[in-house]
Amino acid sequence: MTKASVRDADVDGKAVLLRSDLNVPLADGGVADDTRIRAALPTIELLRERGAKIVLVSHLGRPKDREPELSTRPVGERLGELLGASVAQGDAVVGDGVAAAAGALEPGGILLLENSRYEPGETKNDPELAASLASLADLYVNDAFGAAHRAHATTEGVTQHLDSYAGLLLEREIEMLTSVLEEPKRPLVVVLGGAKVADKLGVIERFLDTADQLLIGGAMCFGFFASQGHSSGDSLVDEEGTQLSGELLKKAEGASCELVLPVDLIAGEEFSADTEVKEIDGVDVPDGWMGLDVGPKTTADYARRIGEAGTVFWNGPMGAFEMAPFAAGTRGVAEAVAKSPATTVVGGGDSAAAVADFGLAADVDWVSTGGGAALELIEGKKLPGVEALNDG
Ligand code: ADP
Ligand code: MG
Repeated sequence: MTKASVRDADVDGKAVLLRSDLNVPLADGGVADDTRIRAALPTIELLRERGAKIVLVSHLGRPKDREPELSTRPVGERLGELLGASVAQGDAVVGDGVAAAAGALEPGGILLLENSRYEPGETKNDPELAASLASLADLYVNDAFGAAHRAHATTEGVTQHLDSYAGLLLEREIEMLTSVLEEPKRPLVVVLGGAKVADKLGVIERFLDTADQLLIGGAMCFGFFASQGHSSGDSLVDEEGTQLSGELLKKAEGASCELVLPVDLIAGEEFSADTEVKEIDGVDVPDGWMGLDVGPKTTADYARRIGEAGTVFWNGPMGAFEMAPFAAGTRGVAEAVAKSPATTVVGGGDSAAAVADFGLAADVDWVSTGGGAALELIEGKKLPGVEALNDG
């Protein structure tokens, strides 16, 4: 990391505007999964130990206006429980009320602002909103890796007013993801799947230049199969994806990276857990069926390759793993990643959820909290929320 670190910031007695990624799923008025709050703790604890007054801000969901269901209040309550400390709740993102509350903070105290997206200026990176936010603090720390690919008022605008430092989580995310791209221990085996195929073609392209093996699963494989002339039945395929997959197959012919596609599939008649299921020894899906998982031969082959890797990067489940009949491929890959002696990095919201569901998260070296940001970093794009920080 070439950016200034919170570890080197002089925060004693100062007000720090801390942007964390506390965008957690909610249910029944409470926090349904606190993984992201836990991931934000090390930076919060470091700042408290060093006597900072913390003005904490995050977005939460996608409110259209000030929807009370998307208040940060339950997030603050959960944070307070995890810290064993009280977290003051702001009644707005900016304004006289929160300015007074920020001014009243003692060293080590925390004020959680309201959902930054209650302000329409947040996603527009409005300079006035950025200036008001900046006026609440003496310096700024960005720990919200999951939002760093967006130039918003809380991730980019505020850096124009305050000295700006990288938080511990953001630093570690960048370090771990960059280590996959730069000087990975070889062979570098990349496993890609999932459903958001168009979002991931840039990632495939990048890895064709840098990885040793690229293993494809999930709905992503059907674009490749369709471009090879296989029948996909009712599988999830989009036209744009098919055309780009064809181009990637051509590019792969001359690349040193081996592009590996499934050799067998599990198909269902419907996208449902209690549908008719059959195993297909091959990759042609008959009409009336959809490919919903990779088959056992593919899973065994991918598991072997993962076991022999020096570095593994995995993004995107191998099938519709949320439904038991189509979970075996994703489970097999997750278990192989967990067991592999390689440096293992998992990125992507659903892949991370799969690893957690299988109880394997602790056996993976790094599970990224930043879905879209992680993919953009891997693609080689600059992240505005990182670029804007002070140089280290
Ligand atoms: P990630 O969040 O890890 O980047 P994606 O969002 O791209 O992954 O895709 C995850 C989703 O892909 C899962 O909900 C899973 O059910 C779905 N999926 C995987 N394989 C298939 C398939 N063959 N057909 C339909 N959906 C699939
Ligand atoms: Mg996803």
